[in-house]
Amino acid sequence: STQIQLVNRPVGWPEQTDFRTVNVELPPLADGQVRVANEFLSVDPYMRGRMNDVKSYTPPYVLGETMTGGAVGRVVASAADTITVGDVVVHQHGWRDLVQEDAAGFRVVQEIPGVPLSAYLGVLGLTGFTAYVGLHDIAQLKQGDTVFVSGAAGAVGTMVGQIARLSGAARVIGSAGSAEKVALLTEKYGYDAAFNYNDGPVQAQLDAAAPEGIDVYFDNVGGEHLEAAIGSFRDGGRGALCGAISQYNTTEPAVGPRNMANMVTRGLTLTGFTVGNYSHRFPAFAADMAGWLASGDIVFDETVVDGIENSVDAFLALMRGANTGKMVVKIAPL
Ligand code: NDP
Repeated sequence: STQIQLVNRPVGWPEQTDFRTVNVELPPLADGQVRVANEFLSVDPYMRGRMNDVKSYTPPYVLGETMTGGAVGRVVASAADTITVGDVVVHQHGWRDLVQEDAAGFRVVQEIPGVPLSAYLGVLGLTGFTAYVGLHDIAQLKQGDTVFVSGAAGAVGTMVGQIARLSGAARVIGSAGSAEKVALLTEKYGYDAAFNYNDGPVQAQLDAAAPEGIDVYFDNVGGEHLEAAIGSFRDGGRGALCGAISQYNTTEPAVGPRNMANMVTRGLTLTGFTVGNYSHRFPAFAADMAGWLASGDIVFDETVVDGIENSVDAFLALMRGANTGKMVVKIAPL
């Protein structure tokens, strides 16, 4: 099994030398174990936080151990009653081409004709679920709301815009980091207006796109975007704080929004969340999303990087914004 391990804790931007590739000989299957040939690995922004030695909602990666994270593959051998050869399984065993572990760590999913297995890492998986929980459970989206989404062309963001639209939002505004992404937001992802945050100050661009203010902000980015959203909220505005990717590779402490007084005067609510605490909502999400995919109400993009040896590159490219929709690594068939 080819596996990728973290060997140094990065300071600022991670580098290739913070990782190593190892080849591990797998022992014969023990009772209750399955062997899975991975087809896709997930690279996700939260992994950057786990590379630091700080306590968070997920424990830090252990140096010298294989990078864990979402992956989907097919069972090639089984010594477990519950899982059969050929089953498609989703798991958290991460950056390796072959996995051999106890059956309990794998979730069997159905293959959907015409939908790539990688969808179980994105639209049908954690990032789609994050969008759903953040909008409904955290931001308490209501009919007629004006919604602003940062990181709008990413895995979570492309889902937030579409789910907001399908759930009765009156107007959906997104920001992203390139003209191509901004065009996709309005042409493909149901956004009414979109802007490139590199074109000028976020507050001025948000004011132009939402002259009457916003009711909901879905924050993937933090920093200047969060401050602008706080500046644009109408009375009673609600923010779902999902992530703050603008700060993940900085070495300076983040500067907080300078306009927090609006929280008082406009009666705002900002709520942070991690999707792992909302697993009770997964069945509702899975049912809704399966319906939306089947009806074509939800569309999705993936950026696919070929080869497990390029996993670190894929992760770094994700942090730089090279992806549209979900970034995944495709594993060559063994
Ligand atoms: P994305 O697919 O959105 O990929 C990351 C994107 O971030 C890039 O494509 C890039 O797009 C954007 N980006 C990078 N640097 C900056 C910057 N300085 N300012 C603004 N945008 C930047 O990743 P995900 O959809 O997987 O994750 C989105 C967010 O959701 C992240 O913050 C992540 O940590 C968070 N998250 C939180 C979860 C939770 O439970 N709370 C669960 C899953 C994700 P661009 O080209 O537009 O800059």
